Amino acid sequence: MRKLELHWKILIGMLLGIAFGFLMTNFEWGPKFVQDWINPFGSIFVKLLKLIAIPLILASLVKGISDLKDISKFRNIGLRTIAIYIGTTVVAITIGLLLVNTIKPGNGISEDTIAQLTETYSNDSGVTSKLEEASRQKESGPLQFLEDMVPDNAFKALGDNSSMLQVIFFTIFLGISMLLIGEKNAKPLKKFFDSLNEVVLKMVDLIMLTAPIAVFALLANVVVSSGDPDILLALLKYAGVVVLGLLLMIVFYSLVVGTFTKYNPWTFLQKISPAQLLAFSTSSSAATLPVTMERVEEHIGVDKEISSFVLPVGATINMDGTSLYQGVAAVFIAQALSFDLSFSGQLTIVLTALLASIGSAAVPGAGMVMLVIVLEAIGFPADKLAIGLALIFAVDRPLDMLRTVVNITGDACVSMMVAKSVGKSMKPKVKNWDDNFDEV
Ligand code: ASP
Repeated sequence: MRKLELHWKILIGMLLGIAFGFLMTNFEWGPKFVQDWINPFGSIFVKLLKLIAIPLILASLVKGISDLKDISKFRNIGLRTIAIYIGTTVVAITIGLLLVNTIKPGNGISEDTIAQLTETYSNDSGVTSKLEEASRQKESGPLQFLEDMVPDNAFKALGDNSSMLQVIFFTIFLGISMLLIGEKNAKPLKKFFDSLNEVVLKMVDLIMLTAPIAVFALLANVVVSSGDPDILLALLKYAGVVVLGLLLMIVFYSLVVGTFTKYNPWTFLQKISPAQLLAFSTSSSAATLPVTMERVEEHIGVDKEISSFVLPVGATINMDGTSLYQGVAAVFIAQALSFDLSFSGQLTIVLTALLASIGSAAVPGAGMVMLVIVLEAIGFPADKLAIGLALIFAVDRPLDMLRTVVNITGDACVSMMVAKSVGKSMKPKVKNWDDNFDEV
């Protein structure tokens, strides 16, 4: 019998996890049981993925750059990547704004619902911590992000998962210097990184063997930790607009992949699907990065020279799903709380959501922190920020799961676009998931 493909195994794990979570909510002891005995298996999986993210970026990016043989090629790839990332993000925000201004989900929401949501969530620790985090971020100057990108201690940067841009900076610096000393002198180091790269990709394969069980645990925990279903229903229209926008983004990527890179969009979605399912289960582009890289390099066949730079940078700065959500959420809150939003206000949203999605960390719930900054930029009263966030907090986790899927799909799509634009063809190294284990 043909073995079940990996994405089906993960999907079955997810569905069973959701069903198990709902079952457990029927028992008083159920949620605690899931949190104490099931969730740790999900957390261990996420930790394993994060554990290999930095070695993978280091090895893969050094390999990618030192294979280039010419620095001007790297500059070319870098500029194209940033330009296309900005382009796809602007498309995402525009789709979000068009939908929210046409469907107007905030206008139909009743005073009672607003009062109930405010009472339940405005003092919730989830909302207050997001507001505190946002005000910490705001205190920094306009060039702070540039300063933060440069580490003063390479080993500290490599030892800290939250400073991915610092790792990328250090690695690019290292890779370019290796190029400059010439192939012969850099050979031992290059061999070391090549081999490290192979090993870490194998670690991704091994970790992925446990993915179906891990997603079961992660989703069971999401279900037992989620809020009152009645409140979720009241926010259905808002959530529906975000989901519709996110779906349109997937259609947009499929069109781009089909027309621009001439790659079958269906095959693209199929090959990237294990990474999408993990993005959904973990709500973190950073944790999903090793799998995104493995899928794009080994299964879609994008050249490492491209993917090793485009994907880690994308996981950190390119968040199309997050920016779309920030645009919709900001206008929804304005509509619900009768805050007048002019045309220039909407343009401000485009600009700030673009910057905010770049600044959002690739971890669960980060998009909501930067939403505060978008709201402040359009002049939303500071004393109403907690109420604004309270309106959308109840559905934030499911939307976070979905926007993370779009975030990583966007990164994969852009890596293919950049590859195509510099004339690289896509040559998959692995056809079936099981081929990864032929020699195990
Ligand atoms: N969870 C998202 C990510 O990791 C960021 C966000 O929108 O909150 O890509």
